[in-house]
Order: sequence, then C-alpha cells, then structure tokens
Amino acid sequence: MDLEEIKQQFIDALSKVGSEKDLAELEVEFLGRKGKLTTVLKGLSDLTIVEKKRIGGAANELKEFIAEEFRIKNLEFRMKKWELIGEQEKQDINSIIPDSRFQIPPSTLGHIHPISNFLFKINRVFEEMEYEVVDGYEIETDYYNFTALGTHLDHPARDEQDTFYIKDLEHPDKKDLLLRTQTSAMQVRYMKKHPLPIKIIIPGKTYRRDNDATHSPMFHQFEGLVVGEGITLGDLKSTLMIAMKKLLGENTKIRFRSSYFPFVEPGLEVDVTCAICKGSGCNVCKNTGWLELLGAGMVHPDVLKAGGIDSEKYSGFAFGTGVERMVMVKHAIPSLKLLYENDIRFLEQF
Ligand SMILES: [Zn+2]
Repeated sequence: MDLEEIKQQFIDALSKVGSEKDLAELEVEFLGRKGKLTTVLKGLSDLTIVEKKRIGGAANELKEFIAEEFRIKNLEFRMKKWELIGEQEKQDINSIIPDSRFQIPPSTLGHIHPISNFLFKINRVFEEMEYEVVDGYEIETDYYNFTALGTHLDHPARDEQDTFYIKDLEHPDKKDLLLRTQTSAMQVRYMKKHPLPIKIIIPGKTYRRDNDATHSPMFHQFEGLVVGEGITLGDLKSTLMIAMKKLLGENTKIRFRSSYFPFVEPGLEVDVTCAICKGSGCNVCKNTGWLELLGAGMVHPDVLKAGGIDSEKYSGFAFGTGVERMVMVKHAIPSLKLLYENDIRFLEQF
C-alpha cells in the first residue's frame, strides 16, 4: 500500500471517530506493532539505499503527521469532558487535589478586547446614521497622508507628527511611503473615486513615533467625512452630539472651540463632558468638567479640490479622534499602557 493511500485512509477514518475508544483503536490500526504505517517502515530494510531514503523520509513525515492528529483529537476529547463538568463539580474535585498543577483548569472563555469592542460600537453607531464604514491603507504615500491635506513639506505639523517613513533603499533620501499618521489620509483617496454625496467613517490603525504614558507608537483613530451640497457646521454639530451621546452616554454634552488643523477651515476642537466627574470638575479634567476629545471642522477647499470636487458648489465636514482616548474617557482608565499590556486582571473588568 502506498503512503498517500495510507494517509487518505487515516484522514477518512479519523473523521469518523466518535469516542476515545475509537481513537485508541485507530491508533493501533495505524501506529501499532502490526499497524499499517509500521508495516511500511519495517519493509524498508528490503529496499535499496536510494529507495530507503526516499520512502523512509516520507513515511516518517506521515508518522509525525498521524501522531500530531492523534494528539489534537485526544485534546479535543479531554476538553469536551471538562466542558461537561459543571463549575461546582470542578471546584469539588479540585478541593480534594492539593497540588494546583493537577487540578482541572477553570473555564477560560475570553471576550473581545475593549478597543476592538469600542471600534465595533463606533461602526454600529455610524451605520445607524447611514454612514458607510471604509477601510484605509496603513501604508500610505506621503501625498495622501500630508500634501493632499494641506500639510506641505515645510509645514510645522510634519514635525509634530514624527512619522515612520519607509526607506527606499535605492534612493535613501526619498520619503514617499510611510505608515499613516492619521486616518485622514483616506479622505482625498476616497473623494477621488466616489460620487457625491459622501458619508463615511474610516476606523483603523495609525502610527507615530511617540511612546509614553499617553502615547503609543501604534494606536487607533476614526475619522468621519461628509461631503455634499449645503453641508454646514450645524450638521457637524448635530452629528457629533448624537454620536457622542450614543458612544459615551446619554448625559454627554459637547462644546466647540476654534482651533487649527491644516485640512479644515474653520477648524474646531471638540470637548465632551468629563466622564469621570460627569462635568462637576475633577483632577483629570483639571476642574473644568470638560475633556478635549476630537478635532473637527469644515473640509478645506484645497482638500476638496485635491479630491476633484468643486469647492464652490459643495462643502463638507470632517472629524476625527483617537479610539484609545475615547475608551479611556468612557471607562475612566488612567493609563494608555493598560490597554496594551494584556494583563487579564485588567481586561476582565470589561
Ligand atoms: Zn472631570
């Protein structure tokens, strides 16, 4: 019998195994002293050296494959057994086994990480408001990440956002590719390819060369972009008011302060009610009752133009924020690092 045939027989037989007893019998059938594979291995001594090498290697590989499949199947049966035992029974059994190494492990069904969970929530909230969720590229060109958004080569904003550039080994001075520093990089890309009206959010990973208590080199942002006829600042305000209430709680209020970002005009800083003191003032919000949370504004005419849109006829708004920051505000988490350390004692609280 050739090895391929044995392998196929084994796979078929394994798929029909329904109990540990079946599994043990199958093991004898293939790997036992008179088993199918053992017979092939024993027959090797009658072969020439060249054949021995060829078939012997393949036979040993198959033996390892079969052994591994047995290990996995065995584990599945053992897991099932534990699942069948109730928590109380487990505790009863464990209470008479003094050495914790031999006790039945507790059920360890995990749950979604708070950041992923919040991203799902963001998508849900905006989908309800008829936004389309759009994926962007994590590796971007310098043009879409900076130039198209009004951040030209000598613009000071490029210094603030210390960027991970991807070196072109042939042209070391050329800095065309980078890890996107903001989800805004998707704005012009999307405008170029899609008809108006545009109503999208862009959630995803972004990268900057920051690493301290409140910054991580990789973090998540989400970005909203709406472009069409007659879009106003009022639309932006009502959108953010509804969204922030849904994301952070019914009693959340927002306020706008004027600010500057190169790709919006006017630019706005958006504050939300401090989630920790609910607006009465605490040390996190420096007793103001407000937390700075989003950057927003009306899309700059130059950005619309870069996207091929007539800025005389159409207008739009954009907003963006860090997802980690929102999760921290929502759950009153003091340090960003906690979200990345994978400490189960922390994660279990969500
Ligand atoms: Zn506060």
